[in-house]
Amino acid sequence: MGTAGTPTRIEHIGIAVRDLDAAIRTYERLLGVGPYAVEEVPDQNVRTAFFRLGESKIELLESTSPDGPVARFIAKRGEGIHHIAYAVGDIHAALHDLASGGVRLIDGEPRKGAEGLSIAFIHPLSACGVLTEITDTAPQLP
Ligand code: ZN
Repeated sequence: MGTAGTPTRIEHIGIAVRDLDAAIRTYERLLGVGPYAVEEVPDQNVRTAFFRLGESKIELLESTSPDGPVARFIAKRGEGIHHIAYAVGDIHAALHDLASGGVRLIDGEPRKGAEGLSIAFIHPLSACGVLTEITDTAPQLP
């Protein structure tokens, strides 16, 4: 059985895009709905747009700086899937469990992501090449 740190579902899939406005139009056509939120996340140098899809979301990411992580990703690999995010009940418990299991973390401590949620990234080397995010399912208190 899982603990409070065990992922319960795919929270969202992050897609790196060159032009957020163009990508929003593309995904509106594809999904049949518009984004419910467009938000800048200064901590990660990105502008994001979120589409709801049942219990999961699609997150489009455009870099706001030429040397931000998303800009570097696109320079190397082009537009495409950037990361997969799993929902966990307790992000501190999750980070603790992962670290004690030998998983290589990018963020040892949670930081603030889009929608006021706590997030942390796991190194792709510990996830078969996939940049992996975990996120608290409840909004962070101010
Ligand atoms: Zn994300």
